[in-house]
Amino acid sequence: MIAILKKGASDQSVSHLVSWIHKKGLDTHISRGKEETIIGLVGDTSRIDPFLLESMDIVDQVKRVSEPFKKANRKFHPEDTAVDCGHGVKIGAGHFQVIAGPCSVEGENLIRIARRVKKAGATMLRGGAFKPRTSPYAYQGMGAEGLDLLREAADELDMPIVTEIMDPRDVQLFLDKHIEVMQIGARNAQNFPLLKEVGKTQTPVLLKRGMSGTLDELLMAAEYIMSEGNENVILCERGIRTFETRTRNTFDLNAVPVLHHLSHLPVVADPSHATGYTRYVEPMALAATAAGADGLEIEVHDNPSKAWSDGAQALTPDQFDDTMRRIRAIREVICQQTVQE
Ligand code: PEP
Ligand code: MN
Repeated sequence: MIAILKKGASDQSVSHLVSWIHKKGLDTHISRGKEETIIGLVGDTSRIDPFLLESMDIVDQVKRVSEPFKKANRKFHPEDTAVDCGHGVKIGAGHFQVIAGPCSVEGENLIRIARRVKKAGATMLRGGAFKPRTSPYAYQGMGAEGLDLLREAADELDMPIVTEIMDPRDVQLFLDKHIEVMQIGARNAQNFPLLKEVGKTQTPVLLKRGMSGTLDELLMAAEYIMSEGNENVILCERGIRTFETRTRNTFDLNAVPVLHHLSHLPVVADPSHATGYTRYVEPMALAATAAGADGLEIEVHDNPSKAWSDGAQALTPDQFDDTMRRIRAIREVICQQTVQE
């Protein structure tokens, strides 16, 4: 972090500021130019509030030199991380996985959908038992009973489950049901008590980007989980809210290479929530695969018009079969290129 001082800052006020920084446990490096004086802050700058520093009388501007996220940062961990989700399924560092299943767990159709997505090549089963709905009158999910249905299906098919947790008080329930991956949804991307609570477990977390969250905010949310001791974080781009109204969200595919550049964590993309319409899911699934995502999360329903949530964006099992074939074709091209280079 550097602080650029206002012109004409007196020596006395500069030394006052320097000793304030030293008291915070950081070193300083002062550079006095003809035009301006710059103080470099050396050490753990997370101890300094940049806004407080910038509000000081003699400070003109504060700039960060290093990112505030440390554990998620590739600079301190150059190798890609593979997160082990159980059942022999790893994601990241060259391991590509497809998470598929219905938006909501609805009942006995889950096992039918699960068998189809597994047959098509999905390696992880999704389904929401606790649903974050915009309206309190909309279907809220089956709750604990939904987790039991997921458990039965996943055990039969030997697949890890990915399912959303919304309440920090449910962490013990998720642990008791041996849920392999806890999803934190877009609406909870900055629910700090929830992030901290899942951070106290070792259960992998699929962390979705908030609807209006920047990539830095996503990485800081990951940092909340990791700083509590859980380093098994998978980042997920699921579209952001923009002025566009033709799609449910705007799929920010830039996020895939940018997050890979900034972080060693695996990056998954969700073309279902990003587009909101079945017809756009396959092309954007292929684009995300080509962009280098470590995995995809795709909603599949055996009767989308009857789905209890998100039917408009669900693929049927037959459509999912075709999409998986094309995803595999794209992966082959990307992997060949890697080998040839
Ligand atoms: C979901 O996965 O069904 C979901 C609610 O996703 P998001 O949090 O991205 O809206
Ligand atoms: Mn959904």
